[in-house]
Amino acid sequence: MLTWSTHLLTEYFTAVNAAEDEETAIASAVERATEMVEAETGAVVREGRVLGAYGFGGTVPEAGLLAVAAGESLLDVPQVGELHAVANPLGGENADALIVCRDGEAFGAEERQMLQGMAQVLGLALRSIRVLAAERHLRAEKERQATTAQTRQRLVESLLTIQRAISARRPLPEILDAVTGGAAELLHGDATVALLLAEGGPDRRLSVASTCGRTEGGPVHEAAARAAMTGGSALISTDGVGTVIAAPVRVTGEMAGSLVAQLPGDADQYAEQRDHLDAFAQQVSLALTDARTVEAVREAHHDPVTGLPNRALFLKILNRVLASRGTETDPTSVLFIDLDRFKAVNDSLGHEAGDQLLALVARRLRSCVRASDTTARLGGDEFAALLHDSPVEAATVVGGRIVASIKEPFRVAGREVFIGASVGIATSREPVERSEALLDNADVAMYRAKKEGPGRVLVYEPYMHTEALDHLSLRGDLQRALREGEFRVQYQPLIRLADGAPTGVEALIRWHSPTRGFVSPVDFIPIAEEFGLIVDIGQWVLETSAAQVARWRRHFPDLGLNVNVSGHQLVHPRFADNVMRALAIAGLPSSAVTLELTESVLMSEPDLGKAALHVLRGLGVQLSIDDFGTGYSSLAYLRELPVDELKIDRAFIARAELTGEDLALVRTIVELAQILGLRTVAEGIENAAQLTALRRLGCAYGQGYHLYRPADPGDLPARLAARLVEDPVG
Ligand code: C2E
Ligand code: MG
Ligand code: MG
Repeated sequence: MLTWSTHLLTEYFTAVNAAEDEETAIASAVERATEMVEAETGAVVREGRVLGAYGFGGTVPEAGLLAVAAGESLLDVPQVGELHAVANPLGGENADALIVCRDGEAFGAEERQMLQGMAQVLGLALRSIRVLAAERHLRAEKERQATTAQTRQRLVESLLTIQRAISARRPLPEILDAVTGGAAELLHGDATVALLLAEGGPDRRLSVASTCGRTEGGPVHEAAARAAMTGGSALISTDGVGTVIAAPVRVTGEMAGSLVAQLPGDADQYAEQRDHLDAFAQQVSLALTDARTVEAVREAHHDPVTGLPNRALFLKILNRVLASRGTETDPTSVLFIDLDRFKAVNDSLGHEAGDQLLALVARRLRSCVRASDTTARLGGDEFAALLHDSPVEAATVVGGRIVASIKEPFRVAGREVFIGASVGIATSREPVERSEALLDNADVAMYRAKKEGPGRVLVYEPYMHTEALDHLSLRGDLQRALREGEFRVQYQPLIRLADGAPTGVEALIRWHSPTRGFVSPVDFIPIAEEFGLIVDIGQWVLETSAAQVARWRRHFPDLGLNVNVSGHQLVHPRFADNVMRALAIAGLPSSAVTLELTESVLMSEPDLGKAALHVLRGLGVQLSIDDFGTGYSSLAYLRELPVDELKIDRAFIARAELTGEDLALVRTIVELAQILGLRTVAEGIENAAQLTALRRLGCAYGQGYHLYRPADPGDLPARLAARLVEDPVG
């Protein structure tokens, strides 16, 4: 069991570094180290001699301690017996070590690691003390020594600052930045220092956790980092450009990464710097080993739901890749992936199922790219992939593969769930590019792909950016449209399939913008919702269409009106009042009106929505579930709703002319509706085959281009009258 705390460690550093002579430094190090791991005895072996023996009484087992320094793990003490012993190298050339011995429990990985850090600090202190002692004797070297003394002072200060930050539980990035910053400052004016940490995945890729210095000068020396991790000790090498020093970082005894420094000139002048970097690496090890900070690393860089790197880590990796890219012959592509219809699943099946689905999506995404590529979850239902050495053609192929893979059904919460994905691609063209800019461009392309319909893959083009900006100006345009009367309503009849008689009309809003031309409600309704304009727009549609249908009813007395209602309207505190006021002014009975709500709207606000629906139902208004089948609402929930009508989504009707499974699905919905006492309306009937199939299945009502297209109010009465005679069904 560990009893050390960061406070004790801080004290240790202060005491050892404050010592003015070797004897004091050793005595204080041995005593504190022994106490911190609850050991009984300890000593230092230095240049073949036992020093600072602690806890042995009169008889120090010198030979045994020397054997421990040489690798023995048990120490026989007369009258006491065998103790577990661990020798912690002081660094430097000799087999010098800080030894502690304990009765009972052997030393664990964390204890060993901490002892190693303590031994390193002692080694550094001893070497500095010796240098200082020599200084008194060697006048000729006075100046160099003075610098060393200063360096030592700065090293001590720097390490102390870091140690304090660790014990004060400063945020991890701050501690790591203090390490790289402190190391760079101490090592050399032109030093670049980077901390590379292994990611959690099976391939344990290295990613940059902190850097200091001019990193754009070239690639971080990942090879050196790996070599230091493999070798388990600090390495120094010269590579034509300069010197690279790498010191390994351990977390709970395991290799976790490396601290790497790049310095100008040859390696031989940097022996001392290697020790210093090692001391900083020990600080990183201690910071990371602290259980809470280990947690913070993962939290800071990974998404807990999918285990994928998060946005911050993705951008870091992308930055590194872009910085190290040699030429334009190996372009990097970024894919921005957004799920289609994820919100519907999340709203209707719950967040737990939503999380489950995201984790499954993450797994599929990984299987669509190479092991060396990076996938990340940016947030919500947005993912990204970084493809190395991938020109735009290759990236487009991967994008297509992703769309196909996500289209396959997922098994979530005991049922099959269908979603989709839209993908935007941006490829690096300039030699150096900001990672954010590349990701933004991919995002813009994705936004554009989504607009073109689900399941698209689009490559970024500069003109798309202008379009994305457009999105913002839409808000102002929508406000103006409402004020200036740019909106219109078209009406599409609903038909009784048995005899082809129109029973009602659905009001569909239209917008001809003077600057944009025709804009589909599919595009502007979500934006009106986003900007809170839908309540006013929806009320305008209701008032306009209610007045219109009231007029038509003089010739078609039983004509009903279906109006689409957005979730934002439904939860508005005065929604029921607003509806009743519009009907009263128009003189339309509430029994003639059916409000259409989508499943996801009902599921996202189950309680609020339900209350308003009951009020309206009580006032005689009918309720319909629009686009039924796209939202996975539970049957149990449906039964609690005061619903009269189900409108089966177009997607199912498009398949209804087929046989087999698709037909069975529509049949199930129709039968289900019958059991619940609901009427069914098939949306989007586009041909005679679909119409025949639906009638055979017993679907009562229908709507679609094959029957009537949406029409302006001026044209509709004539059409209704004509079709009534013609009977499109018969
Ligand atoms: P919706 O309520 O499901 O409306 C049916 C949509 O399908 C309409 O598109 C209609 O023109 C189209 N449609 C009808 N028959 C066929 C067919 O045979 N084939 C195909 N492919 N499409 C057919 P529209 O008018 O573009 O409206 C799209 C959506 O915009 C509506 O879907 C509705 O969700 C929303 N919307 C329209 N008007 C309003 C409104 O006043 N308020 C609100 N909140 N939403 C509205
Ligand atoms: Mg509708
Ligand atoms: Mg619909």
